[in-house]
Amino acid sequence: MALNVIMMGPPGAGKGTQAGRFARERGLLQISTGDILREGIKEKLPVALHAKELMDRGELVDDETMIAIVRDRLLRPDAQPGFVLDGFPRTVAQAEALDRIVAERNNGPLVIVDVRVPGRELVRRLAGRLICAKCGFTAGQPKAGERAATACAKCGGKLVQRADDNEQVVRERLKVYERATKPLVEFYRHRPTFRIVNGAETQERVAHELDTVIDDAALVGAKELGKPAPVKAVAGKAIQA
Ligand code: AMP
Repeated sequence: MALNVIMMGPPGAGKGTQAGRFARERGLLQISTGDILREGIKEKLPVALHAKELMDRGELVDDETMIAIVRDRLLRPDAQPGFVLDGFPRTVAQAEALDRIVAERNNGPLVIVDVRVPGRELVRRLAGRLICAKCGFTAGQPKAGERAATACAKCGGKLVQRADDNEQVVRERLKVYERATKPLVEFYRHRPTFRIVNGAETQERVAHELDTVIDDAALVGAKELGKPAPVKAVAGKAIQA
C-alpha cells in the first residue's frame, strides 16, 4: 500500500526541505518539479531551455510539459512505494491530471498538505535563501548572530542564490502563486485527506506536525479506499500501521 503525498504551499514555505526529509524517512520518492527543471537546464535539455525563460521571470511552465514530466516519474517502478510531490500540482489542470495518474496507479490514497506561511516572512526567507550549485541542497537560514555558510553542508559545493530568488522575481512568484495555485486549495479542501500545517514554526515543529497529520490523513484515505493503512514510521523505524 503506497503513501502518496502532495506538499502544497507558496515558494519559501519550506516544502522542499520537509518533502525531502519525509520522503527519506519513509522510503518514498521525492519529486520536486522545480529541481527536475533546474537539472534539465544544467544538462541543456531542449524542454528545460524553453522553461528557463519562464522560470527566470517567475512565471509557470505550461501544464502539458509539467504533466508529462510528472506522469513519467510516477509510473516508474521506484515510485511504487509512494511519493512526495513538491511544486506540483500548481494549477487545477495539473491537479486533475494527477488524480487520473493516482487512479491509474491504484495503490493508495492521496494526502494533501497545505503548508502556510505569512507573505512578509516568505519574501524575507526567499531573498536570503542559498542553494548548492552542485547538488541543489537548500542551506538553512543562519541563526541570529551567525554568519551565513558559503559551502554546502552535504557535498561541500558552492552556495549560490537561485536565479529566481531575487526580490523582484520573488514578488512575481508570490503573485503567480496567489493567482494560479491558490484555487487549488478550493479544489482539495473538502477532501477528507486534506490538511493544513503552520509552516512559520521551527523546522522541527513543522516536521512533527507534518508527520502527525500525514499519518492521520493516510489512515482516513486508506479506509475510504478499503485498503490497509500505508507504512508508518515509529521511533525512526518503518512499520505497518
Ligand atoms: P520551485 O523550485 O518549485 O519554486 O519552481 C521554480 C520554477 O519552476 C517555478 O517558478 C516555475 O517557473 C517552474 N515550475 C516548477 N514546477 C512547476 C509546475 N508544477 N508548473 C509550472 N511551473 C513549474
